[in-house]
Amino acid sequence: MKGIFPVDKLKEMRTPFYYYDVNILQQTLSVIRQEVAKYPGFVVHYAVKANANPKILSLISDEGLGADCVSGGEIRAAIRAGFPAQKIVFAGVGKSDWEINLALEYGIFCFNVESIPELKVINELAAAQNKVANVAFRINPDVGAHTHANITTGLAENKFGISMQDMDEVIDVSQAMKNVKFIGLHFHIGSQILDMNDFIALCNRINELQDKLEARRILVEHINVGGGLGIDYTHPNRQSIPNFREYFVTYARQLKLRSYQTLHFELGRSVVAQCGSLISRVLYVKQGTNKKFVILDAGMTDLIRPALYQAYHKIENITSDLPIETYDVVGPICESSDVFGKAIDLNKTYRGDLIALRSAGAYGEIMASGYNCRELPKGYLSDELI
Ligand SMILES: *Cc1c(COP(=O)(O)O)cnc(C)c1O
Repeated sequence: MKGIFPVDKLKEMRTPFYYYDVNILQQTLSVIRQEVAKYPGFVVHYAVKANANPKILSLISDEGLGADCVSGGEIRAAIRAGFPAQKIVFAGVGKSDWEINLALEYGIFCFNVESIPELKVINELAAAQNKVANVAFRINPDVGAHTHANITTGLAENKFGISMQDMDEVIDVSQAMKNVKFIGLHFHIGSQILDMNDFIALCNRINELQDKLEARRILVEHINVGGGLGIDYTHPNRQSIPNFREYFVTYARQLKLRSYQTLHFELGRSVVAQCGSLISRVLYVKQGTNKKFVILDAGMTDLIRPALYQAYHKIENITSDLPIETYDVVGPICESSDVFGKAIDLNKTYRGDLIALRSAGAYGEIMASGYNCRELPKGYLSDELI
């Protein structure tokens, strides 16, 4: 073992691959369970898009969480992993007809609808199946989250959701339709949010909207605040479980939930990020003009977050205890952005060493691509290594 890693076993395996620590995942799920139990009316869905590894999905569905899906494929994966259709919500700005039909056939809990044209299509397709679809409207609260521009979703200029000015109109339109039932409001302001003030800003906005709706005698049974809770990428060992207590208590204190309302959450990153690492082997250590490069067999095709969002993942040499040296850690892909980190301190590194890219359980394996005709990385859970 070095840190959390069973190095002797990992050394024998073909790299690169994702390694998921089941203990960390289960501890995370149990903290969520304990914290949520304090608040009647709180319901947590797992955002499948963060990681749809079938074994991870099964562990999460065993804990009783619902699923937040953004495609027909995710709905299928969730059902296959044991999530009951009645606990599935379906979001996304561009749902295809076949995806809507699939969701109607399964009888999912709710569609999170993002426009009037989409609402019309859901109404028509539900009519054709002789069904009534529950719908919630995704409202764009125009609340900025202090996170990377590519992962904020709640500002007016974003493609997501329905603007607050249009909210009354969509509700009226839906109430005139026979095959949709308006049951809730949905929000999601972004991802990797660590400043609770961002969630407080969302709560304040929802409180205002609720007052306006009540003035119009419109009752909303379900409020869904999306996901977005961030994790500590810098210190994965020190804080392997996100601060769910602070997160849920923020909503409990700030959101004026009515007694008849249910508050839904859609957590992705915070559930799975810290349990996963991308394990890679050092192919070469190369002396450049001014610096040394560690060239890995994993690249941006296996973990795209650094190239896509300049995301930071802690990098560790898990097979060396030698004194620290400084390296640029890069992948083998023919793109200059295929860099995992610059000026990274690692124990002195040689060809054949194993490198772990930490906190890669969310938006890692699931975002892998076959660019350069590379094989997709596999994912292994700690309890299935022999
Ligand atoms: C991506 C997404 C989530 C999950 O976000 P995290 O930051 O991973 O918690 C939740 N809801 C919606 C609508 C999303 O698009």
